[in-house]
Amino acid sequence: MSSKKTKRRPKAVALLSGGLDSTLALRMMKDQGVEVHAVNFYTGFCVVESKRGQGRKNSKGEPYRNEALRAAADVGVEVELVDISKEYMDMVVSPRFGYGANANPCIDCRIFMLKKAREIMEEVEADFIVTGEVLGQRPMSQRRHPMQVIERASGLEGKIVRPLTARSCAPSDAEKEALLDREKLGKITGRSRKPQMQLARELGIEDYPSPAGGCCYLADESYARKFYDYLDHLDERHLTARDAIVLATGRHFRIGNRTKVIVGRDEEENRVLETHIGSETRLFARDFRGPLTLLQGETNEGNLRIAASLAARYGDGKRESQVRIGLETADSERTLTIAPCFDEDLDRWRI
Ligand code: SF4
Repeated sequence: MSSKKTKRRPKAVALLSGGLDSTLALRMMKDQGVEVHAVNFYTGFCVVESKRGQGRKNSKGEPYRNEALRAAADVGVEVELVDISKEYMDMVVSPRFGYGANANPCIDCRIFMLKKAREIMEEVEADFIVTGEVLGQRPMSQRRHPMQVIERASGLEGKIVRPLTARSCAPSDAEKEALLDREKLGKITGRSRKPQMQLARELGIEDYPSPAGGCCYLADESYARKFYDYLDHLDERHLTARDAIVLATGRHFRIGNRTKVIVGRDEEENRVLETHIGSETRLFARDFRGPLTLLQGETNEGNLRIAASLAARYGDGKRESQVRIGLETADSERTLTIAPCFDEDLDRWRI
């Protein structure tokens, strides 16, 4: 009889966005024989997922694809899609550790996702969590100290394996217990994506989204302006999934403390706004092609005239002296004839 002990097959929960880093991490774990339960979290701020949900097309006119599903299929594992958007909204409006350069609460976001992953880890009786993080890649959440804070706050000390960067960090429990071969883990650090692209070539991974592409609206400068403007004009900081989508759609103009105008930029945005109308007044040009425009907030005559002048300015009748604009609420409809607004006004109101 052999005296050699059979090594137990480790099991892990892997956070999979479908980007290159998390795909590589997943593949490295599979190559070490780990049984992987991949999860993809939908937060309501994922750029691709929002656009997919709205049926938008990419620059090549193709529907956006779910990168996590595609990546999991490529690596040969199943992925669980988990919608965490409702609770995530509450975290986003008051993050304990604050925001990064834009509206990105990266530290709280990682803690939130890892706590969710921990619940799944306990449920499926996995040994550890796998992420595609790289030490030094992101200024807010992927430096050594914040990574330790995140690990502690999520109750996962020693339980997070970061295959791409593991040898640049302290060994995880899985490495200490020899469930994983540390020598086969990576030691990538820093912001350059070249090492990941080289590793992808070595592993034969060819199909992945642009490594530098932004994935989260919250990290986008223009989105952040609208996000803070919106929250700053509320009595109580609160955000819904609908608010998050509307903030990502159209040109936004603040015309009063309680009033905003949103103008669709193209047909797809008009459709997105149309399907997300709440209590807003709907404005549209009667005689020309033009954007769907929403007036959000106080609907007094002055505000309606400003919103109508914006609707006129962005339509095909923008060079006319007067344009007829339809105004619709849930229970009323009328027409206002108005001159398109001046460019100086656009700059004054634009968020
Ligand atoms: S960029 Fe967005 S998704 Fe990524 S950690 Fe920051 S808040 Fe979370």
